[in-house]
Amino acid sequence: MQIKEQILTNSDCYQAGRTIKPKGIMVHATGVAQPDVNVFLKAWNKPGVNACVHAFVHRGGVVETLPWNWRGWHAGGAANNTHIGFEILEPAGHTYKGGTMIGYDVVKNAPYFAQVYRTAVELCAYLCQTYDLDPLRDIIDHAEGCRLGLASNHADVGHWFPKHGKSMDTLRADVAALMKGGDDEMTQEQLEAVLKAREGALSARSVSDWAKEAWEKAKTAGIFDGTAPGAPLTREQAALVLERLGLLQE
Ligand SMILES: [Zn+2]
Repeated sequence: MQIKEQILTNSDCYQAGRTIKPKGIMVHATGVAQPDVNVFLKAWNKPGVNACVHAFVHRGGVVETLPWNWRGWHAGGAANNTHIGFEILEPAGHTYKGGTMIGYDVVKNAPYFAQVYRTAVELCAYLCQTYDLDPLRDIIDHAEGCRLGLASNHADVGHWFPKHGKSMDTLRADVAALMKGGDDEMTQEQLEAVLKAREGALSARSVSDWAKEAWEKAKTAGIFDGTAPGAPLTREQAALVLERLGLLQE
């Protein structure tokens, strides 16, 4: 990943000169079919523009437009005081109706998306390392920020990522995997395995309907302590159960 620095020194946001201690990252998408980063750099590097992000992710890499610890104007809410915000540029060719992409060619745009998504993952990993952030906890998109009461009501990036089978959950998982030293983005299979394991851990905590009565009896009789009904039994636990049943008399 290449980070090119081109600070928007003429913008009111830069001129305001307020700094933050970054506590998180907010991912945005521009919501306009314009892949040329120079268009944004030009449009935003002047007074009178009421928006500014820390970076743009485009097909050629990353352009940093505010120092990372500057206070940005990207969230339309309190996240400006805590979050580094970057915009991912969308490819050309679609339009919008309401918040919905119209005429978006998923197949044609797949290579473009793969590239900017990967760059976004790398940028997040870099920022998490730099500011000691937790990728699974501290990265949100604009829409999640709104649900948390930290940002204005925008749909990005959930209006776009799912068209390519991605989401903020895959992004967070991919950033975490990259930071652990894996070179490769998490595959669909690996993600499914993670989700399945999580589900398994959850179901281990609740009793199946067919076992409820017996489980209660076993608890009352002191055979089991009542935790993790769905967890597998080890040999030593089995020995303990046999003992509690009085089946191990010498
Ligand atoms: Zn946004």
